[in-house]
Amino acid sequence: MGRRIVFLGPPGAGKGTQAALVANALNVPHISTGAIFRAAVASRSELGEQAQAIMAAGDLVPDTLTSALVAERIGEPDAVCGYLLDGFPRTLAQAAALDSMGNGRLDNVLLVETAEDELVARLLRRAAEVGRSDDNETTIRRRLEVYREQTEPLVDFYQARGLLRRVDGLGTVEHVFSRIMWSLAS
Ligand code: AMP
Repeated sequence: MGRRIVFLGPPGAGKGTQAALVANALNVPHISTGAIFRAAVASRSELGEQAQAIMAAGDLVPDTLTSALVAERIGEPDAVCGYLLDGFPRTLAQAAALDSMGNGRLDNVLLVETAEDELVARLLRRAAEVGRSDDNETTIRRRLEVYREQTEPLVDFYQARGLLRRVDGLGTVEHVFSRIMWSLAS
């Protein structure tokens, strides 16, 4: 099984939870651009200063900045034999940038699918539980809109390359996890 994997899916599909479990099971680094940006915001770094307002609005951090960050990260020694990218690429420009990275040739793209009303419900629940500052209703709607406009085109892009695998994101964490592992192994 090739282990250069991208997880694709709308916010709230349970992508992050599953990405962490699958990366652990496959023994590859879990690289979440959202987590990198949140850490940067928390540490008040220069990157954090740039990302903060953009994230709070539910918009995307500029492609060049995000792609440079990922190029550096997947070039690190722990990513040589594989990685699981969670939340990148999110635009066609980012997908093109990934293509041109030394270690950027993908083996699998996994799409976690969930119905939209379920997504909003999940995101609102998560907002109440963990207090993510970009999980209020206005931002949630904006993030879904950004997903549809900018990220969803990647589904066709990777489908055309024969890399896409679709998995139903509805169900318990354990069920979805086994569906994903099954799909990656087949
Ligand atoms: P996530 O945790 O993946 O939902 O990401 C949280 C936020 O970080 C997003 O709403 C964006 O503002 C920003 N972000 C994460 N990944 C990317 C990316 N690949 N491109 C641009 N912005 C991103």
